[in-house]
Amino acid sequence: MAKHQFQTEIGQLLKLMTHSLYSNKEIFIRELISNSSDAIDKFNYMKLTDDTFKDSNWSGQVNINIDEEDNSLTIADNGVGMNEEDLMNNLGTIAKSGTKAFVENLTGDAKKDSNLIGQFGVGFYSVFMVSEDVQVITKKAGEDQAYKFSTDGTGEFEIVPVTKEEHGTVMYIKLKEEEKEFLTKARVETVVKKYSNHIAYPIMMHFKEDETTGEGEEAVTKKVRKSEQANAATALWSVPKAELKKEDYVEFYQSLSHGDDEPLKYLHNKVEGGQEFTTLFYIPKIAPMDMNRADYTSNIKLYVKRVFITDDDKELLPTYLRFVIGVIDSEDLPLNVSREILQDNKILANIKQNATKKILQAIKKLKGEDADTFTAQYNNLIKEGIYTDYINKDLLLDIVKYKSSTEEGMVSFADYTSRADSEKKEIYYMVGESEQVLRNSPLLEAYNKANIEVLLMDNKNEDTIVAPMIGEYGEWTLKDITAIDAPDSKTDEEKEEISKEFKALTDKIKEVLGETVKEVRTTSRLTSSPSCVVKDNSSPLAGMEEMFAQMGKTMPETPLYLELNPEHAMIKKLDKLENDDIFADMAWILFDSAKLSEGLEPKDKAAFAARIARVATEAL
Ligand code: ADP
Repeated sequence: MAKHQFQTEIGQLLKLMTHSLYSNKEIFIRELISNSSDAIDKFNYMKLTDDTFKDSNWSGQVNINIDEEDNSLTIADNGVGMNEEDLMNNLGTIAKSGTKAFVENLTGDAKKDSNLIGQFGVGFYSVFMVSEDVQVITKKAGEDQAYKFSTDGTGEFEIVPVTKEEHGTVMYIKLKEEEKEFLTKARVETVVKKYSNHIAYPIMMHFKEDETTGEGEEAVTKKVRKSEQANAATALWSVPKAELKKEDYVEFYQSLSHGDDEPLKYLHNKVEGGQEFTTLFYIPKIAPMDMNRADYTSNIKLYVKRVFITDDDKELLPTYLRFVIGVIDSEDLPLNVSREILQDNKILANIKQNATKKILQAIKKLKGEDADTFTAQYNNLIKEGIYTDYINKDLLLDIVKYKSSTEEGMVSFADYTSRADSEKKEIYYMVGESEQVLRNSPLLEAYNKANIEVLLMDNKNEDTIVAPMIGEYGEWTLKDITAIDAPDSKTDEEKEEISKEFKALTDKIKEVLGETVKEVRTTSRLTSSPSCVVKDNSSPLAGMEEMFAQMGKTMPETPLYLELNPEHAMIKKLDKLENDDIFADMAWILFDSAKLSEGLEPKDKAAFAARIARVATEAL
């Protein structure tokens, strides 16, 4: 007897399955069939690539046995099977970070939570929604010993050696008293059709049905054993587009995504002439949970002539399209392609290029609410694309959106350029910590006054790198407003004049602040604020914050320019101030409060507060 304790997280999960996830229980059938189909896929691949299995006269199949008398369902496959170690690792523990994330993400809303089951790869455990006695009898292809894994869904499981002829897995599920509804053929068939119709292998149901022979008095009704295929067993993507309805696509999406929502968009393409391949891609309405994790799982399955090859090749699409779910089926790759051959493969590179274009073109065409949904979920990934996918930069620039100083919501470059000065062909932008900081920035004042739109890029880490890389949008040039002169009506001579007039003041402030600032100067970009700070874009460190962050270092501070608004009463008074102590305090206050307006922190907060207190006391 080999009794084992479930890993703690699984214990938690099992409790959840048995006690709280009451809605949508039928999905356990989908989850088990999906596991069986994966196991058959794996053996199919071994048969093609491993000489040991070459001659076997085998074809994949799933068998569901409905046993009313025994109150049980059996779901059996002739797939790759599991050995003792696999059982321990796959069913007894969860290696993936998934379960913890799953438990953390539970909302308490039963319907939503059961939707999460598939996403987190805890499919097998869904069986405990309907059963307290589960046995997994399984034999791994190429090995002699079979094993039985059994559990009542509490804290323990047991693995013992058993005998079994064929490789593959049998899931024996004793149903709870109140779950008898799953013992009718009609119910099982409905569930299979709903979720697993396009699993590429036949799913056979075996059941007993009343059959009457003879007439009148002679009539005898007997239970007769019958078998019927429950699914269409066609690979959906291989069916011509014209024969498919939206429902077919949605159903298949749900079987891939393990969810029950509709996709935002699907695109089905068959490419012929030269290379031949079919792709079917879906864009989910809600980003996959693990999209922003380094260990995200790929959602693209690669097939060769309908034979499954792999679902963990993250190179099939560019990384920034990791939210796309779907299938690639190539006619040109050899059937016995090994996973190693897939690396740097020309055929795949060509498919990837074609697929990427198609997906981006489809995204570009999204309109209204769909476009908004897309932007809300995936805008940051599109920015990631801008700095990683040079070939598709133009398409990506047509998709990406930003907040704007003059508009509500998100605007595209096309929106911006349709409104902006078509003589100048300049796109103004500003990068900052948050939308609020950007909107309140003194640097915007001159643009607001002149009614010039500025794009507000509020994802600082990403935008700091991406914005300068965009450079141009068609004939338009992007301009960071912190690095250029503000729009105003003053001539260069007039500016020179003002600069001279305040030279004594700017020199004196520079003397107080020393090396902390690169230069103190007057500006015409401000209207209501007395001062602002702008970055030194000529510094070799400009725009390298992200690089330093990635190396785990904070960037050495680059000196800032302090700019003063010569029209502001405070600056005019400061120019005439005779008290040197107060002057020094004011110089620092001007600098530190300008930093605060840009979302930067004063270097010495205590000193900042003390200076304000001193100046305020004086003023009172
Ligand atoms: P997932 O299928 O998302 O990985 P599951 O909890 O459903 O999560 O299954 C865990 C693992 O157990 C699978 O990844 C697979 O390795 C193994 N497994 C489950 N069912 C079968 C089966 N019928 N045949 C072979 N292996 C299986």
